[in-house]
Amino acid sequence: MQGGVEISGLSPVVIPVFVSHLGCPHRCIFCDQTQFSEPVAPERIPGIVSTFIAGCRDPHLRKRIIAFYGGSFTGITPGLLDRYLAEAGRLVEAGIVHGIKASTRPDMITPELLARCRRTGFVEMEIGVQSMDDRVLEASRRGHSASDAVSAARIVRDSGLELGIQLMPGLPGEDRESFRRTIDETVSLRPDHVRLYPAVVVKGTEMDRMYQAGAYVPLDLDEAVRRCLYGYARFSRQGCTVLRMGLPPSRSLQVAAGPYHPAFGFLVKARGYRVMTGVLKQRFGGELDLEVHPGSVSELIGYRKENIDEFGFIYSFDERLPRDYVQVRGAVERGCLQLKDILEYIL
Ligand code: SF4
Repeated sequence: MQGGVEISGLSPVVIPVFVSHLGCPHRCIFCDQTQFSEPVAPERIPGIVSTFIAGCRDPHLRKRIIAFYGGSFTGITPGLLDRYLAEAGRLVEAGIVHGIKASTRPDMITPELLARCRRTGFVEMEIGVQSMDDRVLEASRRGHSASDAVSAARIVRDSGLELGIQLMPGLPGEDRESFRRTIDETVSLRPDHVRLYPAVVVKGTEMDRMYQAGAYVPLDLDEAVRRCLYGYARFSRQGCTVLRMGLPPSRSLQVAAGPYHPAFGFLVKARGYRVMTGVLKQRFGGELDLEVHPGSVSELIGYRKENIDEFGFIYSFDERLPRDYVQVRGAVERGCLQLKDILEYIL
């Protein structure tokens, strides 16, 4: 599910409207939204929405949500912000979309502004928290502190909107301990949704210059997968949906270095099954006979079959089983594992 709203069991249609860098007080070292698109003018929103909806499968059976991405929505100058809200609000009133969401910075949220967003038809506000370690935030030149994120999360929750949080494992100055603390503190903010975007070096950014000068070393893919698996397991345990892990594939994205992979989310979940299978192998030995949900079979087998090649199990599936779960056929409690049971083996 994406976007925080669901009807008819179908995922919502999320219609992205890019407001690239609008409202941003400066450039964070890892960011260059101009590689993706120019900001969309408010008057173009109705056309973008109708074209997007026309290209979707079953759009009338699904919730339809406008999503303002790529800038700091609540920091947009008042006159322009009014125009965005007016255009999007009209589409909500007309029933063409069911709601609006946006991403923004933690230091640009006030109760008054969120109340206004809610009246206009907002259903969710997503905050770019990135890290809860002030040293990491400073090294990334975010210009806000972890306590800003705590206040922003409270304001979003108090407003009645759903709370989304974005984190970026692997920013400068982050080690495993700092990352675990970020997860602990983010879990305590009780987000409804989280996105985990491991930091990659985008060409032309300040982070690229730091990387070229040897002042920043990005995570390797293996470490990024481990950190995201740890986060995924912790958030899932709290009932918080992890909507995405890893940057979406894009022809415009120019990666200079770092843990980018087009199927990053799959790698994370496959690693989860690898760890769970390894634990079961230690407990039971021999050739394991495993059962999973049918939707989890490819994750159990692993990327390029590396899990099944390493452990040599046989498997079957049962749709009554939950996702992110594996059991040894016929075994009792010790033969059942969920991701939350393997936290100590991940990081
Ligand atoms: S990360 Fe967010 S706040 Fe920073 S420059 Fe990019 S869009 Fe703006």
